[in-house]
Amino acid sequence: MPTHYTDPHLACDRCGATVPRPAPGQYEKYESLHDDGWRWRGNPAERPLRFVPQTYVVSCPDCPPVI
Ligand SMILES: [Zn+2]
Repeated sequence: MPTHYTDPHLACDRCGATVPRPAPGQYEKYESLHDDGWRWRGNPAERPLRFVPQTYVVSCPDCPPVI
């Protein structure tokens, strides 16, 4: 299930693995998640036009990357 942007964890949409979400602006922590193999992107099913997506699709290091 896509992760809502207010959720305190990122959850893999394929296997359900979770990792704590860094606070907004903690770019180094997001970078280290990325280095560990986590990937996320805006949920394409939302099709936001000019709006920031409310949910994100996430993949963990063990699953095929979403991006
Ligand atoms: Zn996974």
